[in-house]
Formats: sequence, C-alpha cells, structure tokens
Amino acid sequence: MAKNSTTAPSFATVYGYPRQGPNRELKKAVEGYWAGRVTAGALRAAARRLRRDNWQQLADAGVQEIPTGDFSYYDHVLDTSVMVGAIPPRHRAAVEADALDGYFAMARGTQDVAPLEMTKWFDTNYHYLVPELGPDTVFTANSAKAVGELREAIALGRTARPVLVGPVTYLLLAKPAPGVAADFEPITLLDRLLPVYAEVLADLRAAGAEWVQLDEPALVQDRTPAALNSTARAYRDLGALTDRPKILAAGYFDRLGEALPVLAKAPIEGLGLDFTGPAAGNLEDLARVGGLPGKRLIAGVVDGRNVWINDLEKSLATLATLLGLADRVDVAPSCSLLHVPLDATAEREVDPQIARWLAFARQKTAEIVTLARGLTEGTGAITAQLAANRADLASRTASALTHDPAVRARVRAITPADSHRPQTYTERTPAQRARLGLPLLPTTTIGSFPQTDELRTARADLRRGRIDTAAYDERIATEIREVLAYQEKAGIDVLVHGEPERNDMVQYFAEQLTGYLATQHGWVQSYGTRYVRPPILAGDISRPEPMTVRWTRYAQSQAQRPVKGMLTGPVTMLAWSFVRDDQPIGDTARQVALALRDEVTDLEAAGTAVIQVDEPALRETLPLRAADRPGYLAWATESFRLSTSGVRADTQIHTHMCYAEFGAIMGAIDDLDADVISLEAARSHMQVADELGAAGYPREVGPGVYDIHSPRVPGVDEATSLLRKGLGGIPAERLWVNPDCGLKTRGWPEVRASLESLVAAAREVRTELAEGENG
Ligand code: GLN
Ligand code: ZN
Repeated sequence: MAKNSTTAPSFATVYGYPRQGPNRELKKAVEGYWAGRVTAGALRAAARRLRRDNWQQLADAGVQEIPTGDFSYYDHVLDTSVMVGAIPPRHRAAVEADALDGYFAMARGTQDVAPLEMTKWFDTNYHYLVPELGPDTVFTANSAKAVGELREAIALGRTARPVLVGPVTYLLLAKPAPGVAADFEPITLLDRLLPVYAEVLADLRAAGAEWVQLDEPALVQDRTPAALNSTARAYRDLGALTDRPKILAAGYFDRLGEALPVLAKAPIEGLGLDFTGPAAGNLEDLARVGGLPGKRLIAGVVDGRNVWINDLEKSLATLATLLGLADRVDVAPSCSLLHVPLDATAEREVDPQIARWLAFARQKTAEIVTLARGLTEGTGAITAQLAANRADLASRTASALTHDPAVRARVRAITPADSHRPQTYTERTPAQRARLGLPLLPTTTIGSFPQTDELRTARADLRRGRIDTAAYDERIATEIREVLAYQEKAGIDVLVHGEPERNDMVQYFAEQLTGYLATQHGWVQSYGTRYVRPPILAGDISRPEPMTVRWTRYAQSQAQRPVKGMLTGPVTMLAWSFVRDDQPIGDTARQVALALRDEVTDLEAAGTAVIQVDEPALRETLPLRAADRPGYLAWATESFRLSTSGVRADTQIHTHMCYAEFGAIMGAIDDLDADVISLEAARSHMQVADELGAAGYPREVGPGVYDIHSPRVPGVDEATSLLRKGLGGIPAERLWVNPDCGLKTRGWPEVRASLESLVAAAREVRTELAEGENG
C-alpha cells in the first residue's frame, strides 16, 4: 500500500481501557473502602495510580491520543448521572452528605434506600446503572470528574481526549423514575439536558481539551424517526456552541444505519465508527452518504470485544478505502477495551500454539499502533508485524484444534430430525406423567442451593493442594446428601442435587470440554467490583467424558423422588464465553449442542427422568437490530433442540430463563419445545403466566413465586395468591411451583423459610382445586 502522504498522519487511539489494573487493584481498593479498611484518600490515590499506569501503558505502546473519563469507581453511566445531576430524590441526602458515599449508595443501595436498577450494556456482559428520570428531573452540570481526569492526564504530559456518554444515548438508556408514568419518555428531556452538556464541554475546553468524544452506541439500535430527529437536534445544538472542544460522536457494537447520515451531516468535527463483525456494513453506508468530507474519522477496525488477533492486512485494506472518505483517519478498536481482559501474555498456562491467536487489551493496542503506522508510513514500515500476523493467522487455520475432523463430520451429518423430538408434547405428556407420578402443581427448584463458605473453602483448599480430590469429593457428596434430605423433608416433588461441585454454570462445563479454554487472569468487569473470567471457545468442541453423570447418578441413588439433571444450554455457553470469529456462530453453537446432547442421553441412560437445560442468556443475546433477530433465534432454538431431542418420550426436558420480559422471544420459547419452562415472575406478579396463556403457550410453566434476588421470605399467603394468579393464565395440569432462579446466592435460613411457604402454598391450592372439583 502506498504511503498516505496527502492527508494528516493517522493516530492510534482507544475509547477506553480495562479499569481494574493488572491484579484487580481497583476491586480491592473499592471493596476495602466499603469494608472500612481503606480510606477515601487511599482509594482516590489508588485510582489515580491506575489511571496513570494505564495512560503510561498506552503511551508506551505508541498511542498518540489517550482517552480520559473512561475510568470509573463503579460504572460510567452512573458517572454520567452524577455529571448531569440526575440524582434520584432517595439518594440526595447521601450524596449531599458525602459525594463518594452517595455515589456508592446509588450503585449498591443502603439499608434504607434501594440502588438504581442495573441492566446489560447493549449486547455485552457489562452492566450499567439505569438513570431514573421523570418530568420533574432538573439537570445540573457537575464536570468535576471529567475535568479532573483530563487535568491529571495533561499534567502528565499526555494528549488526551475526554470520553463521555453522549446525551442521546444517556436519555435512551434511562427509564421513568419510580412513581413516574411508565409511558414517560426520557428523551423528551433533551432540551433540558443539552445546556448541561454545553457547560461540561465548555469546562473541558477551558481545562485544555482539543477534542471530546461523545459515545452514542444507542444509535446502532433501531430507532424511531423521533429519536433520530432528537439526535439531529442534539448535535446541531452542540455543534453550534462557540465555547467547546471539537466534537467526535462514536457509535459502536453495530452499524449506525439510519443514524449515520444524521451524524455525518451534523455540524461536528468527527465520527467514530465500528467496522468489525455485523458493523462492517458501515463501510458501504459511509460511501453511500458521501463520506465525511472535512471531518475526522476514527476507524474501529480491531474487534474491541473479542479476544482474537486482528487480520492486519484485511484491516489495512479497510483503512485504505476509508482514507478516501474522510479528511483524516485514525485507528482504534471498535469500542472500549473494557470488554476484554488486560494482557494475553499473563496466560502462562495456555498452550503457546494457541496463545499466539489471542489479543487482549494490550495486544489490541499494539495492533492499532501497527495499523496506524502502516497507514501513515506505508506498509513497508510494518513488514515484520505483517509477516508475524500472517503466520499466526495461518497457524490458527491449520491447527488440529480448530479443525477436528470427527467434530466437523458430525456437524455435517446433522439432519433436521436430530433437532426435533419424535413425539409432540401432547404425545409425550402421558408417558412422562406415568413415569414421574407427580401431584398436581408439582414443586421444584431451579438447581443450585446456597454455596456455603465451607464449599468455597473446600474448592480453594483443593486448588491449593491443602486437600486431595478424595476429600473434596467427600465434601461434595455430603453436601448433596444433606440438600436431598432437606428437600425430601420439605416436601419438594422434583429434587435437585444443588450444584455444589460447580464454580460457575458455564465454566464448569467449559473446563470439561475439549476446544474450550479457561484463563487464569482474564478478568472482565461484569458490574461494579464484580469481574468474571469468561472461558474462550478456541477450537472445535468435543466431550471426552460425561460431565455431570457421576454426581447426578449419585444424587438419584440417595433419593426416592426424581432428581433433575442440570445442564447449561448451548446459547448460554456461547453468550457467557468469548466465541470464535473464524466460523459462523451457528456452527460453534451446533458443536456445543452436540456435546450437550451426548450428556443428555448419558443422563437418560443413567436413569435420569427429568433433565433441565438452562438458557438464561437466550434473550440477552438477542441482536441489537431487529433485522438480525430471526437469524439468531433460528440457530439458538435449533441448537437447544439439538441438545435435548435425543431422548425418549418419557424423559421430561425442562428449561429455565431468569427474566420476565420475554415478549420479544415468545415465539422462540415455544420453538424450544421444552416440556417445562421455569421463569422469573414473582416481581411481575405472575404477569408472565397471563402473557404465556394469552399467547396460547401449550406446554408446562413454572412462573417463580419466590423472588430470590432479595433476602425477603415470601409468606404462605403471598405465595398462595401468586399461584392463584398463575392459574388465571396456565391451567392447573400445566402449572409448576418453583422459585424465580437458583438459590446459590442466598443463605440457608431464608431458603428454608421460603421453600416452606412455597410447599405450603402448593398444598393449599391443590386442596382448593380438589374441593372445587368435588363441590
Ligand atoms: N441452574 C442454575 C442455578 O440454579 C440456573 C442459574 C441461572 O439461571 N442463572 O443456579
Ligand atoms: Zn435463573
């Protein structure tokens, strides 16, 4: 490629960097502060050190313009609420008494006040705190954090670009505050919000910002003409300000679609666009709108949310095209690097043959620096990097791990019959009823029982070699016996073994499957101080040995009543892992599904009559754009059925999803063809039963009658009245009685009391039904 001599040199930049530090120092400092072990001053100093080190790391790597403001003690959307003064009335006293404590009160609640609600940041596994707004919301500018961090960076001699959540995205992510009409639309507050952004922009300008970035990822979703008009207005007004830095609006996670011409025409100086994965269409769209003449483009050509090395030559080709479409082209990952772990070289236990395919935040940073250099100086300046990259990519393609002939042959041989049970639900029920002999309104739980300190200690002891496998297994066996004895005594009809042997519902399986990689340090922020280590789907997936049969069989041998086998479904396995980017995701799903199918049939052969395949991630993985949803739901439901359709008619398949807003996936739930589904419902007052009933859902349903997200114990009357409500939507022959979700995060005393209420309620309603029949 020719040297880019006509335009400005290309910079390498990022939108954000992992916040936690190489050893999760931020988590330790924040949790230490909560526990009273760390002073506010020490926490602030730790945060300052982490920011300084991150900037240093970026600058050392060759990044010319670093982001500021991406750091957060908890969450960047919460930071935005503070910046615009959107403090809910119930948190005001705490914020006024102490800004830092008030901030954490909004994030986590206190004894007396509830926190802000938390939900997923687009289709990532990061969770943000939902702004609560209403017609009475008064915004006030508080630029302290944004300005403070910018000043810090400038004092260290850095060229910095403050990054803020944009005003349109902020409002589109907000919801009506408690007590405000549910149909209130926060976007109607735009005119009140813009002056506050104007003030912050002026403050940033005064503090030395040449550029500011406003993140608008909400614009990659389908938006109404009204929302697009609001966007146009917002950027016209911000653009018209005289006292402001240059503005760059960034959309990522998908194509900007209809919002692209709106932003391209806005009187702002730059745009950040994603060119990876489903967002690659931005390239064509950009050409169609005539490019960004006179503007700066930040080209997100390195996938910022997955862990694979970039195809540098392919990216250079994209960048070369983009050079003709904007005044200046800079190179960046597609989104903040918050969504990937920090450093792949820390994974010393990963086979070096595989490690060379991995790029975490540090490696991605090196990639964008290389690309920017290639763009500015010509490819001759990066020949060594290109050669190494080519070799790494080739080694991945040629690897036996990514191309296991047996797995490939098996996937090719899948026929439509494999993902359909031979009998319909109506044909299966009599066989299942005869085998299980359950009462009306059978009671069950979702799988896990409290993960006690003893269990966690035993797992840690095993890891550190303080106890051997035999001692650990004995601990697990004892726990299983106790959990079963408790359930039988409590009068539960379909039992669970309690999942004491599982660290995590995805990792437990990932560790046992070939082709799946666990990381040691691959922490990614899930929310606040909670970090997870998603496993990596690195190669073709196979199951060398049964994964759950041993403990399930043991559990059944200790109980009279049926014990449910418990598996994590293919969609959830993929959703909570890093997936391959070298084959269609549906292919990866089918490989995982086949491994699970073998597990399901092995469980059946071992005498398990009820098998639950959890799919809590089915809905959250829904693509951001409606047009992409049918394709997703097709492979998602097919892979679920592929894993569950190899069983006899009298084996009952359950599934579980932990949310109540499933409107968008009602059809998909039906397509799963599970005999029984348990759902969250306690907080929505059984509305789910009505909705499923109204939609004509034909199979069995267990809408949760016990909200496990709170330590509150439901009374018998409460559970009884929820069940009666449930009967309004689902007939008694198809209604199950269970909690909303697994019990692993709860304590034993609440669990005992709550399940007692649940069983008592089931008995009471059974009696009512019998009396109704006789009388
Ligand atoms: N079976 C799992 C449990 O009970 C389900 C967890 C979930 O839905 N997230 O813990
Ligand atoms: Zn759940």
